Amino acid sequence: MQVVQSVADVRRIHLELGGSWGLVPTMGYLHAGHVSLVERARAENDHVAASIFVNPTQFGPNEDLAAYPRDLARDLSLLEAAGTDLVWTPPVEEVYPAGFQTYVTVEEVTKPLEGAARPTHFRGVATVVAKLFNVFQPDRAYFGQKDAQQVVVLRQMARDLDFPLEIVVCPIRREADGLALSSRNTYLTPEQRAAAPVLFRALCAAQEAWLAGEHDGEGLRRVMRDVLAREPLARPDYVSAANPQTLVELGDARRGVLLSMAVRIGKARLIDNLLLAQEA
Ligand code: AMP
Repeated sequence: MQVVQSVADVRRIHLELGGSWGLVPTMGYLHAGHVSLVERARAENDHVAASIFVNPTQFGPNEDLAAYPRDLARDLSLLEAAGTDLVWTPPVEEVYPAGFQTYVTVEEVTKPLEGAARPTHFRGVATVVAKLFNVFQPDRAYFGQKDAQQVVVLRQMARDLDFPLEIVVCPIRREADGLALSSRNTYLTPEQRAAAPVLFRALCAAQEAWLAGEHDGEGLRRVMRDVLAREPLARPDYVSAANPQTLVELGDARRGVLLSMAVRIGKARLIDNLLLAQEA
């Protein structure tokens, strides 16, 4: 496994090794969710590349950029064990050199949900991922369904800007009690950690209601809000039952729905989602 910092080194290794490439972009502090992306990429490509970059442009002024957890040595050993060929760990100046002034703005699908709560977040995500696509020129790029809106935004960007690659979406990895794996779970105290599965419980309650015939979007949002309200440590940011493609809140959810939420528990802001689709 080669670990490099410069764009020039990534390009050189890509040329030297040839073949098909799968790319797994990450912000580090890796867990089994990230590893599942690498394993999928390993199975579908000749070579696997990963990036570890805590991207400053996707953090708002009052967010956790400085506090974001980091452990490069552990990350590299997990990536090596999962069969990664190339890891890019650029310093901030390599990605955003002095004088940098070009950003990618995806319009409509960045407005609701995470975009409403974090107004500059997706501009930062789209910009850094566009750069990653240009630096690595992968055949496939792997993202987690955990960040459901990110997937919608990046698919839109790849389509609109004609990036010649396939975006592969991998299922959410969870702890045994349902909590979605996240680097930010490390912010939780033991008491808060015990409360955190309430997000998945709320999603499952709405899924049950939907399967039992509750196809009204507001009814589904109410089911989720009611479950969250019973957990005193949970402070919901938003609760959504939206069209999975446009992310617009649904009235009629009969044909399928993306259930999603952001909930603050202590210092952590946790997100989770469940995609319900009518059998064809
Ligand atoms: P991050 O390091 O948080 O930017 O995540 C890097 C990639 O891993 C993103 O595509 C995430 O959606 C994905 N990811 C994060 N958590 C999970 C999880 N629990 N299951 C599957 N993929 C995940």
